[in-house]
Amino acid sequence: MSARTEQSGQRVLIAGAGMAGVQTAVQLRERGWPGAVTLLGAEPHRPYDRPPLSKAVLTGGAGSGTTPGSTPGSTLENSFGAAFDVAFDVDFDVLGVELLLGRTATGVRPADHELDTDAGPLPYDHLVLATGAEPVPLPGGGAGVHLLRTLDDAERLRPVLAARQPLVVVGAGWIGAEFATAAREAGCPVTVVEAAGHPLAGVLSPEVAGRLRRWYEEAGAVLLTGRTVTGVRPGGTQPYEVELSDGSALPARAVVAGIGARPATGWLAGSGVALDAFGAVLADDRLRSSVPGVYAVGDCASFPSARYGRRLLVHHWDNALVGPRTVASLLTAGEAGTPPYDPVPYFWSEQFGRFVQYAGHHGEGDEPLWRGDPDGPAWSVCWLRGGVLRALLAVGRPRDIAQGRRLIERAAVLDPVRAADPAVPLKSAVR
Ligand code: FAD
Repeated sequence: MSARTEQSGQRVLIAGAGMAGVQTAVQLRERGWPGAVTLLGAEPHRPYDRPPLSKAVLTGGAGSGTTPGSTPGSTLENSFGAAFDVAFDVDFDVLGVELLLGRTATGVRPADHELDTDAGPLPYDHLVLATGAEPVPLPGGGAGVHLLRTLDDAERLRPVLAARQPLVVVGAGWIGAEFATAAREAGCPVTVVEAAGHPLAGVLSPEVAGRLRRWYEEAGAVLLTGRTVTGVRPGGTQPYEVELSDGSALPARAVVAGIGARPATGWLAGSGVALDAFGAVLADDRLRSSVPGVYAVGDCASFPSARYGRRLLVHHWDNALVGPRTVASLLTAGEAGTPPYDPVPYFWSEQFGRFVQYAGHHGEGDEPLWRGDPDGPAWSVCWLRGGVLRALLAVGRPRDIAQGRRLIERAAVLDPVRAADPAVPLKSAVR
């Protein structure tokens, strides 16, 4: 029997219908997978994209209308009454993908090749884990505390913004900054409480992130650093009072917690699928899990990066877009036809009127090199190790990112004098 004939009788089951799950289905079909493909998602909505949830969807800045090929179920009305369609532009019927929505995976039994779900078991020949991540809840948080991960979360937050009352945001990371931006645009007084000494503490050094403080001030948001939220209680001049570690209290109509996300893998306990210290599926360099026939993509998986000499857990859209190509290639072309997965990580953020992009990965020992005036509207920072470009942060300089990603990929050595001159294209600063 040819490989193709054998595959046509096989079923790929994908658990999780976010970006990574949908891309796995799309990539399998694009690469000619002849067998059945079933996509299972816990949410009732047609699969949709998350980045707009903390941006245009909250503020009313995106285009409206319906996406071709989509059906109702993933639209959201903004405060101006326009409908946003955040559904992926994918026709699952045309693609020949069976969609099982509102169905939650509860366990895997590899010996039986079965996925357990809240509506009974499903058989598989190949199982792709794509259950993404879930937000870390605020310790002690209860009524009045919101998270922002899903379409339903965004739906709950729209009237909160429309009320234009004081809000407290916990965490000055990506989600906190984007939500604070939307809340200021909507006219809400906003206080952001950050445990570290500066915004984006998990990603950037104080030297670089300290420059971002000004963005909060200019937008009229109060940024309180070095403090934590110790409790949220009803009462005061607003529905809630937010208690801080310094003994002070802030009145708030609502609290939004953006204190990180962790892989949504609790349901894999006891399955034999190995997880790393962060709870991510411990995938290999072709995104195979420790269990034969089981793969993992997107926010739920970590993978070894030869480029960075360490395991990476990437919670960004581009990783959920690109990783599925490796699994689809592995299933259709085999290991020999599939290069190891070792991307240059990339993400973007829109905050306080700025387009912020980051490519690569940097750590201790990498030297920052500024390109342009960090107090101006557009600047970048390169991180170099032994002259080799490792990572790049660009604010309002998309061309730096486009060129920088390719330079990081080829481990290009930069001339530091030319690279520091923002008038010199980054690609022309290569030694
Ligand atoms: P998810 O999108 O989380 O999808 C996983 C799906 O699996 C979910 O629908 C979930 O309901 C489902 N699921 C979970 N458990 C089960 C189960 N047991 N059974 C069945 N289904 C299950 N990245 C950027 O690079 N730039 C941005 O600007 C940006 N903005 C963002 C804004 C917001 C508000 C959020 C939340 C994320 C943002 N991201 C951004 C990150 C990006 O959206 C994620 O990296 C991406 O969505 C990951 O895709 P995924 O498919 O791995 O996971």
